[in-house]
Amino acid sequence: MKADPTTAYPGPSRIHLAAFPPKERWDDWTELDSQAWPRRKERHYSLVPTTCFNCESACGLLAYIDKDTNQIQKFEGNPENPGSRGRNCAKGPATLNQITDPDRILYPLKRAGKRGEGKWERVGWDEVLDHLASRIRKAIVEDRRQEIMYHVGRPGEDGFTERILAAWGVDGHNSHTNICSSGAREGYQLWMGLDRPSPDHANAKVILLISAHLESGHYFNPHAQRVIDGKASGAKLIVFDTRLSNTATHADYFIAPYPGSEAAILLSIANYLIQNNLYNREFVRRWWNWEEYLDQRSEVGDQRSEKDSFKEFERILKKLYSDYTFEFAAKESGVDVKTIEEIAKVVATAGTRFSSHNWRSVTSGVSHGWTVARALFMLNALLGAVATEGGVFPNAWNKFVPKPIHTPPHPKMWGEVNWPAEFPLQCTRCLFSCRVCLRMDAANSILISPAFTTRCGRIPTAFHGSKFLLMKT
Ligand code: SF4
Repeated sequence: MKADPTTAYPGPSRIHLAAFPPKERWDDWTELDSQAWPRRKERHYSLVPTTCFNCESACGLLAYIDKDTNQIQKFEGNPENPGSRGRNCAKGPATLNQITDPDRILYPLKRAGKRGEGKWERVGWDEVLDHLASRIRKAIVEDRRQEIMYHVGRPGEDGFTERILAAWGVDGHNSHTNICSSGAREGYQLWMGLDRPSPDHANAKVILLISAHLESGHYFNPHAQRVIDGKASGAKLIVFDTRLSNTATHADYFIAPYPGSEAAILLSIANYLIQNNLYNREFVRRWWNWEEYLDQRSEVGDQRSEKDSFKEFERILKKLYSDYTFEFAAKESGVDVKTIEEIAKVVATAGTRFSSHNWRSVTSGVSHGWTVARALFMLNALLGAVATEGGVFPNAWNKFVPKPIHTPPHPKMWGEVNWPAEFPLQCTRCLFSCRVCLRMDAANSILISPAFTTRCGRIPTAFHGSKFLLMKT
């Protein structure tokens, strides 16, 4: 939307009628004291840019510091912030609680009674640091590294803590991610080697969002703004969600599939693109690892009409996905065939301007939830809507990520000691996703055993990051 240049805020917000204080006056901004009304009492403020961290969107805020008391009176949006552009969700201005809440923890506390009794005593920082450091050191010296665990709600930094723990040889970095976005990250990681998507909703032609994507409800305001920008420019919005979320209320297509069935719908859309040659052939030819895939098939004696040819791969692709019909998806999801077909046709019109997102919920709350993000990004990978205007970028491509000079190697073993004797997983080396079995030996080393038969007939024998490498027997 174009704002009138004479009345719009000149910064990134471009808000019509200049709703924000111009930055030239941030050193001395005057407002009437609302509590003195009806008297017209002026208050003078310094407006100091800061950042909201009530979620990791890190929207810009302006702290209104009263010049008489030197206290923060309130927080408002920072119109100069290129991400949030002056707008915030309700949690942004509520940051004031964190400045004034009487229940804030202002100094270290040590349990004074039994666990759960709620009794605490104040202790000094030196005592806490000495106590924790000596216990951690003792555990490292005695090689009890698996007894050290660090938990944080949201890390909010680019790997500093992970480096420290890795330097200690400890695999004990926990955060809420373990039960939140890790499933979705797995799906993205398998496609692009990076676990976070950065969708360009504002320039998309079609936006597909699956519960719970970052924009779904209460926060991640910068994303929500871009969805609305995209819609204002004519983008179609498709939402899969069991809830009538904020985004769902703005959707052109809102469906509520049975939880856990989302991947079936996505695969039926993929199948529609594949069977009707509606995918970006050049992108697939250039960026998919189809040659490696054909190599693996050839070693188990599959017939091929054209050696190593892309056409052969396309033929296999058609066969491989042919079971994922709209009827199959409808049966799995409870959504009618006609609606799924209509959505597939809309997706097919997007070309490289297809933005999509899925984060937690369906990927963390159901068995094999990670396949949802994997199937979703497959649509991007089929359409060639990867790192394009209106498509989805790997997020590390369009944000600054500091690279440390030295990164210690990650510990070779995982922290958990009580693994089940056998742990079924799926091989991700090719599209067949064969089931394999992970075992820990007595020394907690990871073994991959052929408890299930793999399609290619080879035994996976090595674990490497999130991929199971298939080695020759
Ligand atoms: S979306 Fe809301 S909670 Fe998140 S950083 Fe922005 S204002 Fe804060």
